[in-house]
Amino acid sequence: MTARILDGLALSRAIRAELAERAAELTARGTRPGLAVILVGDSPASAVYVRNKIRACTEADIHSIYEHMPADTTEAALLARIRELNADPSVHGILVQLPLPPQIDEARVIETISPAKDVDGFHLHNAGALLAGTPLFKPCTPLGVMKLLEHAGTPIEGADAVIVGRSNIVGKPLALMLTAANATVTICHSRTRDLAAHTRRADILVAAVGSARMITGDMIKPGATVIDVGINRIAEGPDAGKLCGDVDFDSASQVAGAITPVPGGVGPMTIAMLLANTVDSARRFAG
Ligand code: NDP
Repeated sequence: MTARILDGLALSRAIRAELAERAAELTARGTRPGLAVILVGDSPASAVYVRNKIRACTEADIHSIYEHMPADTTEAALLARIRELNADPSVHGILVQLPLPPQIDEARVIETISPAKDVDGFHLHNAGALLAGTPLFKPCTPLGVMKLLEHAGTPIEGADAVIVGRSNIVGKPLALMLTAANATVTICHSRTRDLAAHTRRADILVAAVGSARMITGDMIKPGATVIDVGINRIAEGPDAGKLCGDVDFDSASQVAGAITPVPGGVGPMTIAMLLANTVDSARRFAG
């Protein structure tokens, strides 16, 4: 079998075009959606992520405010800037790019962002509300995975969904979203015994580990839908420097029914969902 490719890049473009229209309508009614993005320090990887987010805003006609603060910024200075943005009516979403330098407590930063502007969906209020089924914002990466599955027409109700990875930003919130959509969900992690026995049962298999090509074709149920969240840079060998996922695409695509590529799968969907959350927030503020 050769798997159908789930093209996250094409889907994200379509979603962003739709969002541009919604943003233009809101702007015409007097509320131009606005996203503030704060980068602290000089991590090249973070700078690339931030640049991509700002570019996507510009293309969707969303107002963006980019704050680049030096690596030695104090926690107090960052929190003060977040409070100003919380009070700024032209800002509907605030994103602080993680990770932060060691002198800054990430949890305190996230809790300082107003839950009503927490477009990353990381604030305790939104995390707790997701558990209860009523979040203002859902975290962008798992939301992007759900949109990909929906668009692919993958049956979710009653499906066995296995997620490898239990982080607060991907694995755990995705487990809640899939459960809400009536899948039967298993979460695997580094202490899971016999990982392959779990992954081989999955109708929907999501890899969110951060380990290059660790899920191989023999770990996949024939016909399964495989979503690869991982982004890894290959260190050595003929592909050195290239990006790859947590799934070994060559062997997996021979067994799966559908599969996301890396790059061009979940990554662009994450950015599209950030813009969607910002536009939703602006609509809520507009009343
Ligand atoms: P974390 O490092 O926070 O979590 C990794 C998870 O994988 C942990 O739960 C860990 O288990 C589990 N794990 C590690 N090794 C194994 C193993 N051998 N077997 C089974 N489980 C294992 O990562 P994130 O969730 O933040 O990110 C995961 C990947 O997704 C990364 O490659 C990241 O770059 C990428 N990513 C991509 C995004 C996108 O937009 N496409 C957005 C966010 C992340 P334990 O809890 O026991 O330690």
